[in-house]
Amino acid sequence: MSCAILAIGTELVRGEIFDTNSRWISSQLTALGFEVTELASVDDDEDRIASTLRRLGDVHEVVVTTGGLGPTSDDLTTQAVATAARVALYRDEPSVEAIRRRFQMVGRTMSETNLKQADFPVGAEVLPNDRGTAPGFTLGIGRARLFVLPGVPHEMEAMFRQQVAPRVTPLAPRNTCQLRLQTFGLPESQVQERLADLEEKLPDVTIGYRLRFPEIEVKLLARADDYAAAEQLAQRALEEARRRLGESAFGHDDDTLSAAVGRALRERGLTIALGESCTGGLVGALLTSVPGSSDYLLLDAVTYSNGSKEKVLGVRNELLRAHGAVSEEVASAMAEGVRRLSGADYAVSITGIAGPGGATDGKPVGTVWWAIATEHGTVTMHRRLVGDRERIQRLAAHIALDMVRRSVLGLAPPSDGVVPADGAR
Ligand code: ATP
Ligand code: MG
Repeated sequence: MSCAILAIGTELVRGEIFDTNSRWISSQLTALGFEVTELASVDDDEDRIASTLRRLGDVHEVVVTTGGLGPTSDDLTTQAVATAARVALYRDEPSVEAIRRRFQMVGRTMSETNLKQADFPVGAEVLPNDRGTAPGFTLGIGRARLFVLPGVPHEMEAMFRQQVAPRVTPLAPRNTCQLRLQTFGLPESQVQERLADLEEKLPDVTIGYRLRFPEIEVKLLARADDYAAAEQLAQRALEEARRRLGESAFGHDDDTLSAAVGRALRERGLTIALGESCTGGLVGALLTSVPGSSDYLLLDAVTYSNGSKEKVLGVRNELLRAHGAVSEEVASAMAEGVRRLSGADYAVSITGIAGPGGATDGKPVGTVWWAIATEHGTVTMHRRLVGDRERIQRLAAHIALDMVRRSVLGLAPPSDGVVPADGAR
């Protein structure tokens, strides 16, 4: 059951906007068990849209288009579909009414061009759009079932969920199951090495990797005679992969490292506070991206200057002068200071040189110190990270989260061989 997606719009092919719709639709269809084998884009040209649709209709079973459904003269998708399907257009009265009501609601008057959005190819089934004025529609074209959706992403997504998914789900072959494992700490090359022979051991499982720097997602796609068997096989592959990746596998599906940290803290009724310097609040932003994080995150003190390290966190001036802000001594004092201030069970600090400037003798760009203070004392860690400013900051923030996760779960701290010191793949 192969699927194609056609993104329509001159601004897309000119590179003026990113085609995020195709990616989104493709991941939805894949999750439903379809195989998306083609992504196409054309400009707002009726002949090119029509000829592309004819070709796609001849080779695929499901085709989804986005864009060009609006009322303006450059919105030609409906006419092009009618041309490709060799049918005329008709005006759909319920859609006229729906558009009229929408205009009344916002107190605007409807013009003749708006009525264009109530025209559909003969034989089409109208798909209502409750977030905008342009309804979509579905029609048979060649051997394919065609779904025509608007270009505005939130309208398109709602229509896909409400109208398209229920109609295509029964068509899906349902003999594949994909599970995903989230990892942090091993470079991509090592993740692959550890899973190298898994595909040979389980020939009906395909392994894929996706880097969402610095987290690496491992995708395990299993094929079998039916869904239940595929799910069982994917589960087996997941367990095996988890065993081989050890402590660097922190979760599955849409899990993130910050969510895993939050879970570990919440389950134990523990709290956390942060003293950030070179990451400028990034660790706090990652933790607060998880709903309900106020249950465990008490404070994030972004103390970027030496003065604020002294005033807010009580880091002694002699320490700063003797060792510099990027040092084991100051990292410890920052963590202990933020623990005193917040009363949190875990207090974490990060201080480093994100670059591109700021390097000193013996402290190159990428030098980072972390510390975790708990009631049992303070543990520090040091790395030399490599990359541009953004990569160093993101990696430093994730390493902080990983230190907390390991500490809370009672796992060994990240060792040099485990954390990708250079962020390399
Ligand atoms: P409208 O009624 O707003 O005219 P439409 O169905 O005609 O909707 P377009 O005119 O093609 O859609 O696109 C409307 C807007 O939606 C674009 O300006 C763009 O911001 C966004 N958009 C269109 N196609 C895509 C796409 N493939 N990926 C991401 N955004 C898109
Ligand atoms: Mg438009």
